[in-house]
Amino acid sequence: MDVRRRSNKSVYSAADEPLKPHKLSSVSPPNASDGISLPLYLTNGVFFTMFFSVMYFLLQRWREKIRNSIPLHVVTLSELAAMAGLFVSAIYLLGFFGVGFVQSALKGNQDIWDVEDDENNEKYILEEDSRRGPWPAATTLGCSVPPPPVRKIAAVAPEQPTKSATPAEKPAPIIITPASSSDDEEIIKSVVEGKTPSYSLESKLGDTKRAASIRREALQRITGKSLEGLPLEGFNYDSILGQCCEMPVGYVQIPVGIAGPLLLDGREYSVPMGTTEGCLVASTNRGCKAIAASGGATSMLLRDGMTRAPVVRFGTAKRAAELKFFVEDPANFDNISAAFNKSSRFGRLQSIQCAIAGKNLYMRFSCSTGDAMGMNMVSKGVQNVLDLLQSKYPDMDVLGISGNFCSDKKPAAVNWIEGRGKSVVCEATIKEDVVKKILKTNVASLVELNMLKNLTGSAMAGALGGFNAHASNIVSAVYLATGQDPAQNVESSHCITMMEAVNDGKDLHVSVTMPSIEVGTVGGGTQLASQAACLNLLGVKGANRDAPGSNARLLATVVAGAVLAGELSLMSAIAAGQLVNSHMKYNRSNKDVTKA
Ligand code: ADP
Repeated sequence: MDVRRRSNKSVYSAADEPLKPHKLSSVSPPNASDGISLPLYLTNGVFFTMFFSVMYFLLQRWREKIRNSIPLHVVTLSELAAMAGLFVSAIYLLGFFGVGFVQSALKGNQDIWDVEDDENNEKYILEEDSRRGPWPAATTLGCSVPPPPVRKIAAVAPEQPTKSATPAEKPAPIIITPASSSDDEEIIKSVVEGKTPSYSLESKLGDTKRAASIRREALQRITGKSLEGLPLEGFNYDSILGQCCEMPVGYVQIPVGIAGPLLLDGREYSVPMGTTEGCLVASTNRGCKAIAASGGATSMLLRDGMTRAPVVRFGTAKRAAELKFFVEDPANFDNISAAFNKSSRFGRLQSIQCAIAGKNLYMRFSCSTGDAMGMNMVSKGVQNVLDLLQSKYPDMDVLGISGNFCSDKKPAAVNWIEGRGKSVVCEATIKEDVVKKILKTNVASLVELNMLKNLTGSAMAGALGGFNAHASNIVSAVYLATGQDPAQNVESSHCITMMEAVNDGKDLHVSVTMPSIEVGTVGGGTQLASQAACLNLLGVKGANRDAPGSNARLLATVVAGAVLAGELSLMSAIAAGQLVNSHMKYNRSNKDVTKA
């Protein structure tokens, strides 16, 4: 870091000085270059070029050796020659600049290196260093060649690479974009120097797009890494302010594919899936086709309640148990729910389930949340209840509003058994000829595979809610497309897939039971333009004014229906031994990746 700081000002002058005739004429101590009859700038140019070309060559060779596992001590003739060249040019450059530096220091010249010795500046460098930490920036073989020192000046002075640049002077991958105005350039510098906190840009500038642009540029300069490829334009940064993402520098693009129509409960849905896994949409689409050809799937919502479980502590286990009995007593429910329900028009307390660990009590509050996924809503309600309980139990010590008995974004049996969010079961009877013609397998093979893989295999693996083939693939893809919280894929993907031969063993009954699908159609990422468009496609965008909560519930059934389709198709591919072939077709590009 200090090298970068210093170089901001120094490298130009150190490199430029020899070009100034008045400097050369008056020097008395000899420079290393004095004995060379060529013009000085030419000599310097030759040695500079030689130094960096050879350095570049050696780095390339070093990288190849690491990649091909060739021992570093095995040296070829060309490498030996390159090392000699590096040595000679280094001696020259060291002599030239070293002597020049000592000389100017002795003369007391007020050059740039003296500025670096300034006490304030040193303090500033230390502050800057401590802000970034002492560690080098992350690097990847083949992505980032250590930039030659002269490039470092680009951190403050954007410059275009000259056409005649030799390989050694080839620009490092960092792309310094000139700021759109001198004002912006000043702010970028201020962020780079740590004087303006990056997080404060939005509030200071009052312009979210400009803030993102400045932060992005500052980040590139600080890290020396290019963000080319991560788009900045074409996104509404106002829409994420204060609710979806802090300190944005761009946005990641995820392709959205459509599976369907999914015929579910007598209606057709085109299911948007955000994914980069080849084959996934195609496979789910095939499952939808099999379901539709068999008359469609049916879903039932079994339960709808978001949970939050604070942890509170008492002086004794007895006191913790007393509170447990209090909150579980039906006679107290009205009081508690009145406090809980104050927080929202939509949050309605349903139940409180308690668990004790010694003196600690975990109270798992469950409530309906309308069309919101509901984490904020339930948390606000729980806070109200804690305030109420505190007045009755002044010795209650609230350790945390979330005590992990909820349980959010972690695999936990409580969600698998009790449910969280929406609990849905979805089924279909797939006709014998559909299994043959569309799924390319037969009922007996599917039933046997399901028993041995999804049930027995998962039991052998000690699975927790993972009695399925790939529910999380479909859940994650639909969540990304529709603005759900992708981290809740953990419990939302809990699923048991059942398959059974019916109608005298001719047809296949298939079902998925998913106890904790956590979705919403308001709040969070659902209101962003792209995600809202996908919700709109499903007919569940935003709040349902006539029947609050029905949009979110419908979305949960669509998720389960899409999982049913995904399970059918993947299980069939495995039963028919097609899995590897289809993945080689859709998941491996035929393109020559080296040319891409
Ligand atoms: P979450 O609780 O999922 O984190 P938010 O708190 O971000 O969700 O969003 C819910 C907000 O949307 C609340 O302020 C709520 O009052 C409002 N809202 C409007 N209509 C509805 C609805 N039909 N269902 C649920 N919330 C709604």
